[in-house]
Amino acid sequence: MTAWHDLPTDIHVHIQPWEMMHPKTFATIRKGREDYPLIERMMKDPAVLVDHLDEVGLGRVGLINYVAPEIMGFTHEVNAWVGNYRDRAPGRVLAFGGVHPPACADVREEMKRVVSDYRLDAIKIHPPHQALSPDAYRDGSCPELAVVYEACQAAKLPIMFHTGTSIFPGARSRLGQALVLDDVAVDFPELRMILAHGGRPLWMEEAFFLARRHPHLYIDVSGMPPKNLLEYFPRLEDIAHKALWGTDWPSPGVKSLAAQLAAFRELPISAAAKDQILRQNALQLFPVNRS
Ligand SMILES: [Zn+2]
Repeated sequence: MTAWHDLPTDIHVHIQPWEMMHPKTFATIRKGREDYPLIERMMKDPAVLVDHLDEVGLGRVGLINYVAPEIMGFTHEVNAWVGNYRDRAPGRVLAFGGVHPPACADVREEMKRVVSDYRLDAIKIHPPHQALSPDAYRDGSCPELAVVYEACQAAKLPIMFHTGTSIFPGARSRLGQALVLDDVAVDFPELRMILAHGGRPLWMEEAFFLARRHPHLYIDVSGMPPKNLLEYFPRLEDIAHKALWGTDWPSPGVKSLAAQLAAFRELPISAAAKDQILRQNALQLFPVNRS
């Protein structure tokens, strides 16, 4: 029998407290989802998620939560929520939380809670949904972002940035540009960074460049139809050691975890590259014994 830690990690799955979402946002994500009853059960019960992972042959999933009160509805309460959820699915869930400086009374204290109390596995920053540029610490408009990066760097907590566009009402897609993260990687050279969606559909070349340039900067391949992945990243194999498997399920247009995985396995790239992307890179970034 294959142990779960020999199976792929899907680093980008959105099981979140959806009841926090604004009605318009909820309508966007709920629309056309035949599997919504399953998602609803998963939100309430981690055992349902674990059963599903066993069914589709996944070892672990990164549960992406972040804080974006104005545009999405998510508050800092997601941090306790996702930490608690992860504790009820030992080993199988990587808990991603968030911080939104404009809505946070004390960013330093929140980061202490994230690291020491909730013991989250990673942080997610969503510039288009937080209406905040990831380099806003540089011009002094949001110095607290540097506090977040320093705390993540010190605790070796990976930080994921949404890169690319977003179709949610009110999202500021301009802020999803990838190249701005070059500054963050230069200023915080030990920070483990993941560029979600590799900048798709407008900034893939920037994301590819950054993954090659910075030793601790990765991309995830979520939010793109896997069968078209080589159109987005023709030289995917050149960054196979810096790319992480992810689906973005159940975001709009992402049908199922199993179908995405099957389509990725069909790609005409080497088995070694697939293994790095599906399994090895995530094991390196998120060692099994840590969770
Ligand atoms: Zn996502």
